[in-house]
Amino acid sequence: MTCKLPVDCVLALTYNCNSRCTMCDIWKIKDSPELNPVEFLKLPSSLRDINLSGGEPFLYKNLLMVVRNLKASAPRARLVISSNGFATELIVKKMKEILMVAPDIGVAISIDGIGEMHDEIRGIPRGFDAAMNTISELKKLGMRNLRLAFTVMEKNVNHFSKVYDLSRELGVQFTHSFAQSSEFYFGGKQNMESPRRDLLIKQYEYIISSEFKSWNLKKLARGYFSFGMFKFITSNNPVLSNAPGRDFFFIDPNGEIYPSVVHNVIIGDIKNFKDKKDFVQFWCSTDVERTRQKIDGLKIPVWMVCTARTAIKKHPFSVGWWVFKNKFFGFKLE
Ligand code: SF4
Repeated sequence: MTCKLPVDCVLALTYNCNSRCTMCDIWKIKDSPELNPVEFLKLPSSLRDINLSGGEPFLYKNLLMVVRNLKASAPRARLVISSNGFATELIVKKMKEILMVAPDIGVAISIDGIGEMHDEIRGIPRGFDAAMNTISELKKLGMRNLRLAFTVMEKNVNHFSKVYDLSRELGVQFTHSFAQSSEFYFGGKQNMESPRRDLLIKQYEYIISSEFKSWNLKKLARGYFSFGMFKFITSNNPVLSNAPGRDFFFIDPNGEIYPSVVHNVIIGDIKNFKDKKDFVQFWCSTDVERTRQKIDGLKIPVWMVCTARTAIKKHPFSVGWWVFKNKFFGFKLE
């Protein structure tokens, strides 16, 4: 049996955070551990998507060196930094340097509502203005790979399509996720409330039909991703099987490797590897395969951007058929 190497990962560089979000307690963590940038040279070159996350990743001291090392270890990977966008000056200063070594890198700025709704959720007065200012400053640097990232909650569900429209006005991409629970991520925060189904339907129908007006493959795939997210959040079932711990992994600021942010199973520790070869050996070991069987047994369903991306690529026919049906015979969410 050949061993398949991972293609997607999320790296939480630090748990230090300058936000005060209501749906995440990471900001309450004091003195987060942080890995030395050389650790990232050990990641496998099979990776195609890497998300640099946190906490607030721009608070990680040597972010430039991390990006440099990722470019060296996984040269074919698309890199995106997820930020709350509050520290405009710091972000712009660091991005000026980062763009010199990674001109195609993306930045996703969290926007959870328009104006005061965002400020209330993020716990930062005038946070919306700060995040918008960051986007405008990054645009001035010539950045094109920018996106707004919306976290759906009961409180802000009616702002979902408004932020989607804002992304179109700004000419940037749009992505979304739901406020989730985790035993070890989000500072252990449990988000148990789901938005009302009828409100979700209204928002998703608007967003997906807007994506479907286009012939752009990326937008059509995003429409499918949103459909999958609606199904997942309303039925707890992913529309396609996806494989955390196989295609995807998460590394915390301490170097511990998990299948995803909702699977509380430590697969390994990047600090224990000497180099990339060691990582590959570890990934293909029988020990890790045994851990994967254990993870499968937990039956924790997931549908997140990072896991769904690979699932969508792996199922072009079923995704293509769904898109075809809904684009040509009228879009129906249910
Ligand atoms: S959601 Fe992001 S910005 Fe908010 S506290 Fe958590 S890590 Fe910080």
